Amino acid sequence: MIRTAPEDVTQVVVSPKGAESMRRGHPWIFRSAVLDTCSMHGHDALGSICRIVSDKRERLGCGVLDPSSPIAVRVWGLGPDATLNAEVFRARVERALVLRRTLFADGDTTAYRILNGEGDRVPGIVLDRYADVAVLKIDGDAARHVAPEIMRHLEGVLRDEGITTLLDRHASRAGNAQSFGCAKDKRIEIRFGPARDKVHVTEHGVPFLVDVVRGQKTGAFLDQRENRRRVGELVTARLRAGRSARVLNLFSYAGGFSIRAALAGATVTSLDIAAQAHASAQESFKLAGIAPSKHEFITADAFAWLADAKRRGRTWDVVISDPPSFAPNERAKPKAIAAYRTLHRACADVLAPHGHLVAASCSSHVDAEEFAATLNDAALLRSDLSLLEMFGLPADHPTLPNFPEGRYLKFAVLT
Ligand code: SAH
Repeated sequence: MIRTAPEDVTQVVVSPKGAESMRRGHPWIFRSAVLDTCSMHGHDALGSICRIVSDKRERLGCGVLDPSSPIAVRVWGLGPDATLNAEVFRARVERALVLRRTLFADGDTTAYRILNGEGDRVPGIVLDRYADVAVLKIDGDAARHVAPEIMRHLEGVLRDEGITTLLDRHASRAGNAQSFGCAKDKRIEIRFGPARDKVHVTEHGVPFLVDVVRGQKTGAFLDQRENRRRVGELVTARLRAGRSARVLNLFSYAGGFSIRAALAGATVTSLDIAAQAHASAQESFKLAGIAPSKHEFITADAFAWLADAKRRGRTWDVVISDPPSFAPNERAKPKAIAAYRTLHRACADVLAPHGHLVAASCSSHVDAEEFAATLNDAALLRSDLSLLEMFGLPADHPTLPNFPEGRYLKFAVLT
């Protein structure tokens, strides 16, 4: 229930448990931790900037309210004086840009995340850069509601960085901006600049074509950049040691891992259920100077195809598995873990002796230890593989220390 606030600001009263979690730096206040909401409007408080107070009315910080979501408040600032306005947002964007300018100072990488939501203390707001195009993705109605006001200066800041087009993906309202349709009926708004779709970017000097309109997420999986490079290094190391490097890349999408492996000298089999994914992969292969005809592209369901490959006795020296999330919510977790075990066993079945098994998961509900357990001897039905390394997100995807939900990516290398 929303009551009229005594002061000219919406107040959210949180339980002692909610207050403790917030003090420790967790950026979400769940609906179950909200004791009371007092709004200056007395109604529809979606997207209101609110003051968060304890049950003893201590001022804990400020946030953005979404009364109908399980995450009732996203916390933007801690302490009695915390406020949220265009200036605060501008300062956070500037801080985020300083980090990226440092990370990518060599100019070899032109596709990276500028704003990583909670991790850059801009909850719900993701902004990815693809050379001179930026793509905005806003998570949750509340962030979208508050966005126009706090993002007033964004255009100027981005133009100063050399960005000439800003796209807004998953926009729910058409607004005044020019709009056009894209895959799966999702709408895209152009916030400024000319319309764009295919953008030429480089990742550690390797060229890729990214479709910012039809591509998944904001166009590409930027979170796997360092892991793609690691796959290249792994292939290089094998070849230098005089060992073979036949690579199977499962769930290959636009061919990120495949290109790094092929450039390092591997022969690559890329498998994806979507034929269109191979078309974009092959465009990027050519751009990188690799002949697609020297490699294999298979359109099939990975599970069924792996069973068939095992029957035919095919093996690979490096098997990479990077499937879509199997656990969209906490309830789906047991099923997801079972699916990872099945998949990893099938990967191990086609792994050549002394091969490398590379397994990734982007399910935030399955943590690193639970994921590692889907790669143990019992899961793989063999007892010769050890876990060499486990990686996660790259530095342009920062997270808050007390926000494990943000660290969704797991990337395990076994041999
Ligand atoms: N590894 C990729 C990202 C993978 S995204 C990268 O580094 O960029 C997941 C991919 O899995 C999508 O391209 C999707 O088409 C594919 N996919 C989903 N279900 C599949 C299945 N059952 N078999 C094979 N591919 C599947």
